[in-house]
Amino acid sequence: MRFSIVSSSALLRRLTLVAIAAIATLGALPVMAEVPWPVTSEVARQPVLSPEVAAGLAPVRFLLTFDDGPDSGPDGSTPVILRQLADNPVAPGIKAIFFVQTAHPRRGGGPAGQAQMRDTCAAGHLLAVHSGLPEGHVPHTRLTPGKLADSLRSGEADIVAQCGHVAQVVRPPDWAHNDTTEAVYRQLGLGMLMADASARDGKIYGWHISLRRRSHMVSELERVGRAMATHRLEPVNGVMPIVVAFHDTNDFTASHMTEYLQILVDAARENGLPLANPPFYTDTTALEQAAVARAGAGVYARESWP
Ligand SMILES: [Zn+2]
Repeated sequence: MRFSIVSSSALLRRLTLVAIAAIATLGALPVMAEVPWPVTSEVARQPVLSPEVAAGLAPVRFLLTFDDGPDSGPDGSTPVILRQLADNPVAPGIKAIFFVQTAHPRRGGGPAGQAQMRDTCAAGHLLAVHSGLPEGHVPHTRLTPGKLADSLRSGEADIVAQCGHVAQVVRPPDWAHNDTTEAVYRQLGLGMLMADASARDGKIYGWHISLRRRSHMVSELERVGRAMATHRLEPVNGVMPIVVAFHDTNDFTASHMTEYLQILVDAARENGLPLANPPFYTDTTALEQAAVARAGAGVYARESWP
């Protein structure tokens, strides 16, 4: 009898917990959907760089990069991103580097993609090779050195055909590289440009990433701040280029690009990183110089999160 009383009260407690959890879930979901993710944090935290240390460092200028495109057409993500880079309240006229798939039929390998490549460079952005293969997103590490070299030359020719110019940097698909692929890049005079911070909007993408995009970028720039403090990053022309990776094939990224710009500036401030004015590259020549310098130095690069 005693046992059965304990048992039923335990059952009751369990049912109550299940009911509370269900109510909490039902109640929480609409709130999460309706309340916009705060752009400016109210949470006080210790910046990774103290004002004294920051004062001795070159100010940060974000160097934005986009992988996998072009994503063209009426609903294409690349034009949506271009409009926001050109016209936004954070830093109008931002210039970025687009690492494109030049030969894939749904990317740069068709007339729409080629028109998009022309529009992108006509707006002052730089194009560079991600993949020059019709098969598209094949890791360079899976290609023989000869095939890799041919695909990179072909990709560069595809970009030159549309833009008249190709930036001498490369971003490998899946960010997969080794001594062999790096030797091929060097042989072709290409610098491998990885990134200091990533939006993680490539392979892993979902609502949980989008909701955490702000806190994620704060932690990315906290790591950048530590690299700056220990002089693992070198300034270029008086500013500290911080390479940030996005994917212009991601329609969430495209529809939130302006917010991402604000998040980067806010996350830098939260970490005590000094910011250049403007805090993003707006000059194509300076952008290219910074990209080539960073690729050549290769002192600090992310190896994960394509
Ligand atoms: Zn890619």
